[in-house]
Amino acid sequence: MNPDFSDIFIIPVNSNYLVYAPLKGISALINRRGVSELKKLLHSASGNPENKESKLHELARELIHSPEQVPARKTGSLNPEFLGIIPTRSCNGACNYCDFGADKASGAKMSYDLAAKAVDWYAEIVRSQQRNMLDIHFFGGEPMVARDVIEVVVHRARLVAMKHDLIPYFEISTNGQFIAADARFLGVYFNKVVLSLDGFQEIHDKHRPLKGNRGSYENAVETAKIIGSSNAELCIRCCISRLNVLRMEEITAWFCKNLRLSTINFEVLCATSQTKAAGLFPPDPVDFAVHFHRSRKIALDYGIEVVYASDITDRPGVSSCPVGKDTAIVSPDGRISNCYLLPERWKNAGLDLDFGQVGKNGRVQLEETKISAIRGMVENKPRCAGCFCQWSCSGGCHVGITPPGCSVNYDDFCRQTRLISAFTLLVNLELDGLPDGLMQSPESLVKINSQASDRLETYPV
Ligand code: SF4
Ligand code: SF4
Repeated sequence: MNPDFSDIFIIPVNSNYLVYAPLKGISALINRRGVSELKKLLHSASGNPENKESKLHELARELIHSPEQVPARKTGSLNPEFLGIIPTRSCNGACNYCDFGADKASGAKMSYDLAAKAVDWYAEIVRSQQRNMLDIHFFGGEPMVARDVIEVVVHRARLVAMKHDLIPYFEISTNGQFIAADARFLGVYFNKVVLSLDGFQEIHDKHRPLKGNRGSYENAVETAKIIGSSNAELCIRCCISRLNVLRMEEITAWFCKNLRLSTINFEVLCATSQTKAAGLFPPDPVDFAVHFHRSRKIALDYGIEVVYASDITDRPGVSSCPVGKDTAIVSPDGRISNCYLLPERWKNAGLDLDFGQVGKNGRVQLEETKISAIRGMVENKPRCAGCFCQWSCSGGCHVGITPPGCSVNYDDFCRQTRLISAFTLLVNLELDGLPDGLMQSPESLVKINSQASDRLETYPV
């Protein structure tokens, strides 16, 4: 078989099969006989499949002749997707599943000089790459604990943008635990606010207590309402554990009815010793995928998008997160990294995701060898080699899911990602009823997840 066919995948859907060629943007549903027939047509090809009588002739022709989209990958000089700023690692919350290292944080704030220098450096890159967007995202800890640093960055960026005819864009990931005036500040200056809200009060407060075991729900909802009535786009980041997985549809409906928002981003809780101690566990992956799909349908009626970071994308890529996209995330100590986690997290996973430093003199030092190593790392994922999600999920979190040396077997993350991705492909084909049929057949769901390789060329028929 022509080696180009190695990026054609087969996914069983009850008694039928999805053909999926992500690099060509092609998907189709065929029956069992069709799989062997398609293989034969492609084999007989040399660019011109025989048996023009076959109903699959057109599909085979498209699979052979459609141009391949080149997956988005970085080469050449550093060209960050966006500038990340961590104003502080401190946090005013005490979430039971914090992944940002707030409990180990020094409490240090980024200096104003460093914040301004980072903006100037990034603006120079944007200009040299002939881009026009000054895209800046804030992470923490809780970034609003250092609102003054955020203000310095925002005002500096607006000034630089005006001077060089760039468009400033600001996004923040926040817990919403602040006074109304702070929420109004975000509503005025920010394009997008990603607010953590995990559903109803009893769930949210169990997931995301404040210090002293006080609840954070009411303040989070108040912030959501203020942002929702502003010009900023509101995205709810909702963490799903065993506690709320079966209530995802209810939660979705409540969000859609009561908040003015654009997106709900569902994520699953990652198990740590802290989550176990709090009695919180990740959801069953099949439950998560099923309730994700049903929630997506509910939100659609309200014109609201329900997203999952590792879902199928329009454009094939080599990473579904900031890592591998040259993203420059600046920490309060001036380190420039590809990931917002504490270095000890990625070091424990055998990775080095720092690639530069903003020096005390304001000069930025980049390490080209590290930039190349990170770009290469995201493309070296043995587990993903036969998976139909390899150009969308692309390994998920490079620290937590597919670090170097990880098992080649699918884990729960893979299982939920593969199911959600299969549902998405069916929905995109306007076969909206098929995911429901699939969900009623646990064996069919297991079948999708028990395929070690989805490649057509090695598919047993
Ligand atoms: S094997 Fe798992 S991590 Fe890799 S692309 Fe598939 S779902 Fe994602
Ligand atoms: S490696 Fe993991 S934690 Fe780091 S940016 Fe990517 S998804 Fe987030």
